[in-house]
Amino acid sequence: MANDETAHHSNTITLPPAVVEQASFNIDTLEVVNFFLSSRDREVLKELIKQPVIYNADENKESDAHVQLHNPAPLLQFPLNEAARMDILKLLAAFLVTPNCAGLAACQIGINRSALIYRIEEDAKDLRQDFTRSVPITLLLNPHYKALTDKKKTDWEGCFSVESTMGEIDRFERIKVTAYNSDGHPLEFKATGFEARLIQHETDHTHGILFIHRLQDHNRRGSYDEMRPLRKADIEKWKNSN
Ligand SMILES: [Zn+2]
Repeated sequence: MANDETAHHSNTITLPPAVVEQASFNIDTLEVVNFFLSSRDREVLKELIKQPVIYNADENKESDAHVQLHNPAPLLQFPLNEAARMDILKLLAAFLVTPNCAGLAACQIGINRSALIYRIEEDAKDLRQDFTRSVPITLLLNPHYKALTDKKKTDWEGCFSVESTMGEIDRFERIKVTAYNSDGHPLEFKATGFEARLIQHETDHTHGILFIHRLQDHNRRGSYDEMRPLRKADIEKWKNSN
């Protein structure tokens, strides 16, 4: 999921090395929650961030990409084998180089595995009324969520896999998340507000569900160009009421 409405992009992202070098992350000191990066992993990552990232697009109905986006991803088996570790590094690299990326699931970049990565930066509180906390880069394997309340909040979402549409989605305000870390240890935690929304959006991806599948009749939806001003107005209204 994108941090804001600027998710709209072409299906391939290639950043020239100079841009990667100026990026706001340092591979040597990078930490990922639930995934221990060895020094060898870091060397592999330095190469991977120079590769183009190709996004699966929902609009491309004839492709394997479409099949991956619409079906549950196979679960990871532990201990992870070399191929699985490499795919997680590819997911991490794609996440790092994608501008404005709050969350990314493996199936969005052609990796058919149940894995997601997300981060909430402090400045998300300027865009999300229900921001609760910032979260460092976090990996979740074989994730699931369960609602802890019937209460839902409506807010805007966009997706790197759905170029045509931005829309409002009703999401559970509080969820319990279960997943595994890269060592195969089970994880369980609660998430609220925007963090809960982001995890629901990305976990849905691992189960073959796109945000557009959750659009209700009352939800506004349309092209990015049409919806951007509506969202901006919503944010201004919320800020002026504070
Ligand atoms: Zn998405």
